[in-house]
Amino acid sequence: MEPRMNDDSLEYGESAVRIIPLGGLGEVGMNMMVVETDDDLLVIDCGVQFPEYNTPGIERVIPDMEYVRRNRDRVRAVLITHGHLDHIGGLPHLMRIIDAPIYAPRLAAEMIRRELKKSGGRQFSGVQVNSVRLERDYRFGDFGVQWISVCHSIPDSCSIYLDTPQGGILHTGDFKFDNEPMLGLPTDYQALSEIGQRGVRLLLSDSTNAEDDGSARSDRIAAEAIYRVIAESKGRVIIASFSTQIARVQMVVDAAQEIGRRVAIIGRSMIENTRLAEEVGHLHIPPGIRININEANSLPDDEVV
Ligand SMILES: [Zn+2]
Repeated sequence: MEPRMNDDSLEYGESAVRIIPLGGLGEVGMNMMVVETDDDLLVIDCGVQFPEYNTPGIERVIPDMEYVRRNRDRVRAVLITHGHLDHIGGLPHLMRIIDAPIYAPRLAAEMIRRELKKSGGRQFSGVQVNSVRLERDYRFGDFGVQWISVCHSIPDSCSIYLDTPQGGILHTGDFKFDNEPMLGLPTDYQALSEIGQRGVRLLLSDSTNAEDDGSARSDRIAAEAIYRVIAESKGRVIIASFSTQIARVQMVVDAAQEIGRRVAIIGRSMIENTRLAEEVGHLHIPPGIRININEANSLPDDEVV
């Protein structure tokens, strides 16, 4: 295929754009990237990494933010792709050293507000956390910015398109091509192809297991399996899940309702995230389905998930 862009950098003038990954490249976790010109600096995502067997005693690992601290006068905004902790969990540390607004998709914005409140309370009361609108073009100094809906294992996930003095840059964020997502928007192919028409000079793409052959199957397969397991079980059913996997919670609620069981949600982050997801309208638990753990203990095993 003919490349659409001429790679002769002179065509783009003198204003250099630098991309500096501070974490998350070639590793899972603590995603953080700086995109900058001489005048303006944007941070994309700011996550944590969870400890491994070889880091005993360490609760969370954060990216080295020294570069951002030294250049904090030029930071125009922090742009977030989605609400997973490996993309937002480092924000309480970052917001202690910079003074810039955060822009994030809706559910991520709610989760960021909660993270900031949990880890600093009043200290972060001045931090501006904005929920982005997908159809809008934003401008931060030298950069035009647009969020594009992509499918991922948490609702409200986005790619970020940057219109820079050196041409278009597409940062895909975490994504999956699932044309039948259980909830949230599917990947916005139209917006992506429009951006393709305009020209993408650089594609930054990060997807865990991208090197594996084949394609990931739709999440609907999990819904069928969950339904079958609950329907065939004679006793109590206990399901473990990432607390941000809101679609999985919805699958369990839907199956339980149809089969005639009630659902108790336990665990701190599970309770918090399902509440947030209900508030922003991603999760729908019909009245009467949800019970607390004490009620669950007083019901027969085959009426509870
Ligand atoms: Zn993710």
